[in-house]
Amino acid sequence: MQKTVIIIGGGVAGLSSGIYGQLNGYSTEILEMHSLPGGQCTAWDRKGYTFDYCIHWLVGSSFGPFHDIWKETGALDEQTKIWNPDTYVTMRMTNGEEFIIYADIDRWEQYLVDLAPEDGKPIAKMCNHMRKMSTMQLFEKPSFQRNVLDYARFMVKSGPAIRLFMKYGKMSLADYFKKLDFQSKLLKERLNGIAVGMEDFSAIAFLFTLVWFSQRNAGYPLGGSMPFTMRMAERYRSLGGVFSGRSRVEKIITDGNRAVGVRLADGTLKYADYVIGACDLHALMYDMLDGKYITPKIEKAFAE
Ligand SMILES: Cc1cc2nc3c(=O)[nH]c(=O)nc-3n(C[C@H](O)[C@H](O)[C@H](O)COP(=O)(O)OP(=O)(O)OC[C@H]3O[C@@H](n4cnc5c(N)ncnc54)[C@H](O)[C@@H]3O)c2cc1C
Repeated sequence: MQKTVIIIGGGVAGLSSGIYGQLNGYSTEILEMHSLPGGQCTAWDRKGYTFDYCIHWLVGSSFGPFHDIWKETGALDEQTKIWNPDTYVTMRMTNGEEFIIYADIDRWEQYLVDLAPEDGKPIAKMCNHMRKMSTMQLFEKPSFQRNVLDYARFMVKSGPAIRLFMKYGKMSLADYFKKLDFQSKLLKERLNGIAVGMEDFSAIAFLFTLVWFSQRNAGYPLGGSMPFTMRMAERYRSLGGVFSGRSRVEKIITDGNRAVGVRLADGTLKYADYVIGACDLHALMYDMLDGKYITPKIEKAFAE
């Protein structure tokens, strides 16, 4: 007997769950409240323009374990062309000046030195952090398949990046720039400009992002979000998965402490061996499960 799975939400997470469920012999159904799959990974046309809501850059666009997942789920196929821009960001100031973050670390370093020669030392330090960050390895196997050797290999290869993590792991981007102690007023203004509005953004995440760009592994899949989503939806359908649009889940039905099914907004009851929540966590925990399974960690995350 095939085990059945209900998946709440048909975004990238729900589609991935469905695809891997089907690949592993489960009979799955995605319940999505919108008529279309994709969730936030979507786009729409209006008055001759396409409004693309999601993908600007895709981690794993060219290689590595994330890339394997995109290929397996059909999000990227042999025909998908990837565009790797030379610049990560171009900021235009109100006075018309520009500040550029180049994808290539060496090029960005030279650009910053030209802008603020007196800050050669902190600029080199920051760029070297990025280079060290690129030693970070991603596990090819999921956690339950890893052995001691996999972890040992990871520690050895990722050593420089792990040391950076330990030093800056909890530092915000704004504090990181402050710690580097740039002297040039112009450079300070420009770099702090990146952090404006995202004061809590992690320094490590910033370094990581630029590393992915420099490795040309955070490119833009031509066509954007909608074709990306549709390729995943087609892969899911071709594996026998069932996508049910306009199906809003209101409650998760439990038996003891086990989820055994769902009740839709129109009153329909659906039962399965497993229920996967791939919708938003707040609705899942507070509404669909009536707040019965909220842990202190979840409460703190939403409170803050
Ligand atoms: C403006 C923007 C730009 C982004 N840019 C990038 C980028 O460049 N690169 C990148 O990698 N990521 C980017 N992201 C992030 C990316 O879009 C999300 O991480 C990803 O789409 C989340 O997928 P998900 O399936 O987890 O959630 P969602 O896409 O939110 O999917 C959840 C689904 O659940 C459905 N749902 C909710 N409640 C119910 C219910 N009660 N019953 C039934 N269905 C329900 C929703 O309708 C939705 O379809 C961007 C996001 C935004 C908003």
